[in-house]
Amino acid sequence: MRIVFRCEHCGQSLEAEADMAGEHMPCPSCERLIAIPKSVHPEVPPPVLPVTSPVCAQQPVLPKTSGMAIASMVIGILGIAGGWMCCGIILPIVAIILGHISFSQIQRRPSELTGKGLAIAGFTLGYVGLLFGLIAAFAFGTFAATMSAVTNEMNRTLGQGGGIRR
Ligand SMILES: [Zn+2]
Repeated sequence: MRIVFRCEHCGQSLEAEADMAGEHMPCPSCERLIAIPKSVHPEVPPPVLPVTSPVCAQQPVLPKTSGMAIASMVIGILGIAGGWMCCGIILPIVAIILGHISFSQIQRRPSELTGKGLAIAGFTLGYVGLLFGLIAAFAFGTFAATMSAVTNEMNRTLGQGGGIRR
């Protein structure tokens, strides 16, 4: 069961699961916190997203670049830089998530948001950064394990005065 209601700030038609009634969620359109009403109107058909809602039409309709897409790309770049330092797995994951969210937002509302290229760059950089991070983590792990094995072997060999065992 889904609840269909309108954002009290910008009039955007929204849907939510019935069990979310009474909770708050950020409006995907104006990003302000809105309360999900308890009343259910199952007879209302799923809304066709208007190009501009009446209230939003008062604002300039020039599409703006999605801040999330920009953030995704910046974090993606940082993630690739950080991926080599073994700590960069979190940043690429953030870049991937932000990239995909902003990409779908831009696809849903192309008249309001631009930056699809940035979003694609963001999650692509995220995947590359994640790969780098995993490779780096694996390489450091292997390196550490090898060094530890070599050190043990040397200690054992030296400790036994050069005696060979196994
Ligand atoms: Zn809204």
